[in-house]
Amino acid sequence: MYDIQTVRADFPVLNRKVNNKPLVYLDNAATSQKPKQVIDSVSNYYCFHNSNVHRGVHTLSVEATDLYEEARQKVGSFINSKKPEQVIWVRNTTEAINLVAKTWGEANINNGDEIVVSEMEHHSNLVPWQQLAEKKGAKLKLVGLDSDYKLDLEQLHSEISNRTRLVAITHMSNVLGTITPIKEIATAAHNVGAKILVDAAQSVPHLNVDVQDLECDFLAFSGHKMLAPTGIGCLYVTEEILSLMDPFMHGGEMVLEVSFEKASWADLPMRFEAGTPNIAGAIAMGSAVDYLKSTGVEAIHAHETSLMKHALGLFDDLEEVTCFGTKDLESRGGVISFAVNGVHPHDLGQVLDSQGVAIRTGHHCAMPLVRSRLNVPATARASFYLYNTLYEVEALISAVDSALSYFGRSSRNN
Ligand code: PMP
Repeated sequence: MYDIQTVRADFPVLNRKVNNKPLVYLDNAATSQKPKQVIDSVSNYYCFHNSNVHRGVHTLSVEATDLYEEARQKVGSFINSKKPEQVIWVRNTTEAINLVAKTWGEANINNGDEIVVSEMEHHSNLVPWQQLAEKKGAKLKLVGLDSDYKLDLEQLHSEISNRTRLVAITHMSNVLGTITPIKEIATAAHNVGAKILVDAAQSVPHLNVDVQDLECDFLAFSGHKMLAPTGIGCLYVTEEILSLMDPFMHGGEMVLEVSFEKASWADLPMRFEAGTPNIAGAIAMGSAVDYLKSTGVEAIHAHETSLMKHALGLFDDLEEVTCFGTKDLESRGGVISFAVNGVHPHDLGQVLDSQGVAIRTGHHCAMPLVRSRLNVPATARASFYLYNTLYEVEALISAVDSALSYFGRSSRNN
């Protein structure tokens, strides 16, 4: 049984009030809150083990290195990486994708080649490929959405050709919640000799992600959206590709031998981790994985689906509110973007904040999707996580309802 009160008790911030109302935190697609187990692991590291990794023979350095590498193992096994060395610590999803674009992309994408992306990509998985395509004379191909806000698979299959070198695709949209069928897309990419990069920023925190089963070549995700601190994230790469990739940055920690004239590179994964890393962040990401595993990612996903079902049902009663995204909850995570006739999302967000309800408003770093496909300047977005309750869903709807009255919009469908 999913014990929501036990989960909530682990998150200190959920006890606070905002504008004299209990905080209802529904901005999880921007960043998640942190349980005390993760906060304690940061504090424990700095209180007892703080030292630089991989450089010292003294006790603290050995302990810090062991904790740092143990965290890599935890995260690697969480996504079912064959080996922990296939997980590279980076700052976030954005850095992970840029790393691939600047190393593998620079070396393997050439004039006339094609990169396939979808129209629901976060800027992090669009702009690096636009830049690379422009630099190399490659072509960026866009796959749209069908009428139910799912990836248009027919178009995807027709866009993938023997010129395709990479399919870079989100696993779960941070605007629509749409889940994409990665395995099918990976097969299509591999059939023409292309690679697949998966933006898993929104999926690893909420779904069971198995890189071997999905057959992805690259997978990028951020710690801060899965209960870990900001400033730590991961790039997973298959062993075969990683062993051929050039380093991203040069300097300390990533070298084997250096003379005044030249240098050779350290083994994997150190070759990709130049400079002193975010040691406490990595260790805390290991603790976040422990927490997610002990709660159960499938149980979390099922909980979020029940919140979505409730929210979509209640939103249906609100005339003047348009919700974007499929109603097929098999293909959707806990994200709802919505627009209210005649009310700017920022104004709506402010009224909701006065009720203690935290949502995000704007283009959610997916400007082309919001502006050109949803045809609105911005949306309001509520996004759920393991600690949200059905009662909080009702608080959201009632805050939206009172905002509608405040802005003079009639609200209820009869
Ligand atoms: N892709 C998706 C789908 C996201 O939701 C996000 C974060 N909102 C990112 C990429 C970028 O993540 P970060 O800002 O941590 O690099």
